[in-house]
Amino acid sequence: MPPRLSPDIYIQGIRQGDRIILSRAITLIESSLPKDQALASEVIQGILPYIGNSLRIGITGVPGVGKSTFIEAFGNHITSLGKKLAVLTIDPSSQRSYGSILGDKTRMETLVNQPLAYVRPSPSGSSLGGVARSTRQSILLCEAAGYEVIFIETVGVGQSETTVHGMVDFFLLLMLAGAGDELQGIKRGIMEMADAIAITKADGSNIMAARQARASYQNALHLMPPTESGWIPPVHTCSALTGDGIKELWQMLEEYVNLSNQNRFLHKKRQDQNLNWLHETIRQELETAFYQNPSTKQQIPHIEQSISSGEITALSGAQKLLQTYFTHYSTSHRS
Ligand code: GDP
Repeated sequence: MPPRLSPDIYIQGIRQGDRIILSRAITLIESSLPKDQALASEVIQGILPYIGNSLRIGITGVPGVGKSTFIEAFGNHITSLGKKLAVLTIDPSSQRSYGSILGDKTRMETLVNQPLAYVRPSPSGSSLGGVARSTRQSILLCEAAGYEVIFIETVGVGQSETTVHGMVDFFLLLMLAGAGDELQGIKRGIMEMADAIAITKADGSNIMAARQARASYQNALHLMPPTESGWIPPVHTCSALTGDGIKELWQMLEEYVNLSNQNRFLHKKRQDQNLNWLHETIRQELETAFYQNPSTKQQIPHIEQSISSGEITALSGAQKLLQTYFTHYSTSHRS
C-alpha cells in the first residue's frame, strides 16, 4: 500500500475530483486496521459539508439478466448528459479483486474509460455487513468528489438487495422476459422493494415476450400495497444492445426525483436510512467487540460444549457469556 496521506490531502484531492485519491480513500475505508479506520473517520468528517447531492440508485437482478451491459448503456447515457456517474458494486461473496475486474475487459469496458464515470468494484471476500459499511461511506466520498449519480449494483442474490435498498433513493429491479419468478430467484419481497422494474434484452425476437412480461409485472405490482412515497412503480422494457428504452428510464428517474422532492419523501427516506445505519452500526460493533473479546473467546467453546451435552440451556449459556463480556469490559475500561 502507498504511504498514508494526511486527512487534508485526502479531503482536498477528493474535492478536486482526483480519482487516485478517491480510490485510495475508499481503500482506506475498506481497511479493517484500526489506524486506517481512524484516518478514514477524519476524512469522512472533513467531507461531511459536501455530501448528499447525488441521486443514489440501487440496481439488482439475477446473474445473466444483463446488469453490467445495462449499467454500461444507462451509464453512458447519463454521462452523455454531462453528469458525473460513480458505479459501486456490492458482492459479498466475490473473490474478484479490483485488479481482476479491470483485467476483465468485457465488464463495463466503455464506462471504465469514460472521463465522467468512476467504476469501483466491491472489496473481495468481505462479509455483507463489512461491504455495506464501506459502501455507505464510499457513497459519501463519491458525493464529495462531485458525482451526481451513484449506482450501487448488487451482484449477489438474497440479502444484499435488502442492504442496498436501505442505502439508496431509488431501487431498480432488472428482470428477464420469459423466465418465471422462481427461475429468476426473485422473491416477492424484492418486487415489493422495487421503485421500478426494467425488462432487459427487449430486442429482436425477444420484443414480444418482453412486452408480455411488462404487462404481467405491471399487474403484479398493482396488487402490491401502495407505496409511502405516492410513487407508482412502473415497468419498462429496454435493450442495452439497441438503446431502446434507456432514455425513458432516465426520464422516469427525473420524474421520481421531482415528485419525492416536492412531497419531501426523499428527505425523510434519507433521514430514516441514517437512523437505521446508526442502529445497525451499533449492533455490528457490539457483535465484533463481543466475539473478539479474549475472555469471551476463551469461554465460548466450553459453553458450547455444555449446551451440546445438555448441562445448560442456550439461554443461560448466552447470559453467562454476556456477563463475562460486560464484567471484563467494565474492568478493562476502569483500569
Ligand atoms: P449480468 O450477469 O447480469 O451482469 O449480465 P451481462 O451484462 O454480463 O449479460 C449477460 C448476457 O446477456 C451477455 O451475453 C450479454 O451479451 C447479453 N445481453 C446483455 N444485455 C443485452 C441486451 O440488451 N440484449 C441482448 N440481446 N443481449 C444482452
